[in-house]
Amino acid sequence: MSDQCVFCEILRGESAATFTYQDDTVVAIMDIQPITHGHMLVIPREHAVLMAGLNETAAMRTFRVARKLASVVRSTLGATGVNLFVADGEVAFQDVPHFHVHVIPRYPNDGFGLSFPDSYANPPTRAALETIASAIRAAG
Ligand SMILES: [Zn+2]
Repeated sequence: MSDQCVFCEILRGESAATFTYQDDTVVAIMDIQPITHGHMLVIPREHAVLMAGLNETAAMRTFRVARKLASVVRSTLGATGVNLFVADGEVAFQDVPHFHVHVIPRYPNDGFGLSFPDSYANPPTRAALETIASAIRAAG
């Protein structure tokens, strides 16, 4: 737990939240500024800023619950698709320094989209991909 963390405050019962799921390892709450109808956050009880800092059991439970809630929003809210989104680090749009998974129900023409850098139009060569993959394999 962190004294400065809004999610830890919620987990301690010191800040309000609307819960959709709770167990001994993770909780899920409604996002207070939802991107779409039914947008939730799945939050491990353990405080870790980044995904890599979280113990593997808690990380896997977080994704397992996100998967379950992704199914639930289809059956209860009429979502016809779901995005799971992790903002791992400030450059990746992390706004709360406590790892969490967004469950974003999707509906036709809901206004949520992705933008891509200009380089997307000019994909790398196979050789460049092999170089990148080689570095990743060597680290694994
Ligand atoms: Zn926290």
